Formats: sequence, structure tokens, C-alpha cells
Amino acid sequence: MKIRFFVYLVFFTIGYTAFGQNENNENIDKELFEFIKNPLDTLDTDDKFTKVIIFDDQTWAYFDLGRPIINDSIIDSLWLNDDIHAFSSVELKDIPQEIDLLLVDSLHAFSPPTNGRKVYSRFGTRGSRQHHGVDLPLNYGDSIFAVFDGKVRIVMSSRQTGGYGNMIIIRHANGLETYYAHLSKIFVQENELVKAGELIGLGGCTGRCSGPHLHFETRYQGKYFDPERIVNFESGTLRDTLFTLKKHYLSIYSHYGQTDKQSSAASQRTYYTIKSGDTLSSIARKYGTSIDKLCKWNKMTRTTTLRIGKKIIVRD
Ligand SMILES: [Zn+2]
Repeated sequence: MKIRFFVYLVFFTIGYTAFGQNENNENIDKELFEFIKNPLDTLDTDDKFTKVIIFDDQTWAYFDLGRPIINDSIIDSLWLNDDIHAFSSVELKDIPQEIDLLLVDSLHAFSPPTNGRKVYSRFGTRGSRQHHGVDLPLNYGDSIFAVFDGKVRIVMSSRQTGGYGNMIIIRHANGLETYYAHLSKIFVQENELVKAGELIGLGGCTGRCSGPHLHFETRYQGKYFDPERIVNFESGTLRDTLFTLKKHYLSIYSHYGQTDKQSSAASQRTYYTIKSGDTLSSIARKYGTSIDKLCKWNKMTRTTTLRIGKKIIVRD
């Protein structure tokens, strides 16, 4: 590679002569277009957003891939590299009823996170467990891509995350964060800028996992919502360029496919009247929550006697 680069360095003079003379010429694009025959190869530079293109007439030129543009206020606020839950101080009540998020525009693109086109397991409750993202099946070692331009906030190994396995969290220009979990390999570092569609890692089965897949989450201010609200994974496209995030989406009981009324109702506090034979574990299973949460919401302990006819909070 070094020898190759040296050969290209020799072409520097030729290249500079060819392009340098036309620097101030308004017709430069047109002339270049006529002048350039065929790109033969590209070379990496120290800056991943700049490549060197080698042409078949032995000239070369820098090619600027464009740098992700990210508003400082998005990156500066609650930016932590060592804590997944950077937004734990933000409560649901602090979040507006509706937020318009521009997902893509002429400067910001989108890429599906994998080439797979199936959702193997959806967002929502599984008995008393909650699934905060979607599972996309893949083959071990398949490519994982950044979905939007952004900056890498978290790169953690299985040892640090437990269930998530090796994972990446990227904060995006549109204010969202995306989680990529169970990876076998990670190619990016903390605080690195990435572009939509950039290869960030390889799929695998690290952490709590029973077969290779990508666990993918979308979050706003740390609050998860169904990724299928913005991505159509079957076609690998965005559902729309603008996403109106409604506050009631930020609930494990709210998912894509519900009407607004259903989603809103699903996200509300729900009560249940205790009947004969109920146990905390049967109620937790029925409402897709945990015994710990039931105890917390109702200010009781695991040993509190359940009085028949008493109303308790089962969703909050
Ligand atoms: Zn999952």
C-alpha cells in the first residue's frame, strides 16, 4: 500500500498541473468532466471524509465526501461517553406533546441499519419483559450501518453492557439517538463523526442473544419509541422525511400501526382491580411489567397482601 501511495505521489505533480491551472476558471466543472476519462481507483487519506481518486490518465484529485453537519446544541447537551443513560435527568413531563423532527434533507441522508429486510421481533412487551427496540435477523459478520449522520456517543463491550453485548450508540443531527446491539465487531470510536450509511460494525450475537441479530433502538432524550414508526424495515426506507414525535409514542405500550387514539390510551396510567387468585407475578405478566415496578408505583413490597377489590396501578 505504501509503494502504491508513493506511485500516486509521483502523479501528484501531473495532477496538480492538470487541475491547478484551472483553479479560477468558472467552467472548471465542465472542463473537468470532459477531461476526466475514468476513475481507476480510490485511496484513503488520514481524513475518512476525504478520498483520493486516481484517473486512468494518471492524474488524481481529492474527493470530498462531505462532513456530517451536526448542531452543537444537540451534541453538547448531556453528552456522556461512559453512561448509556445520559438523559436520566430528563423526565417525560419535560418533553413537549409534539416535536417535529426533520429526518432527512438535502444535507442529511438515511440508510437502513442492515441489509436484512425483516423484523424478527417487534417493539413492545413480552410477558413481564419489555423489548425496547426491534430485532433484525442477520448472518454473523453482516455489515451494520449508521442510519443518519451523527456522532458516536457510546462504544461499549459486553462486559460493560451485559444484555446489549457489544454496542454502539450514535446521537444524530435530528436529535434522535440510535442503539446497535449484539455486535461482533465495532469499527468506530467514541466521539467520532459518522455519515448515514457508514459501516460502523459487524452483526453478531454478543450479550443476551439466542441467534445472530441486530437489536436496534430509536430514542429521543433517552426515551425509547417503536423504530417502525420511522423506518419501514421491509423496504429499507424511511416512512417520511419529517417525523412528528408525539409524547404518547414514548411508551412501551405504544407502537406503529395503532391509531393516535389507541396509542394515547395505551400510554396512559392504567388501574386494575384485584380479583381472587391474583398474584403480583400474574398481574405483572398480564400487563407486561415487572413486580418491582408494580411495587414502586403502588408503594408496596413483594410481601404486601393483595386485598380483593383494591385498585392498583399496573401501567404508568
Ligand atoms: Zn432485541
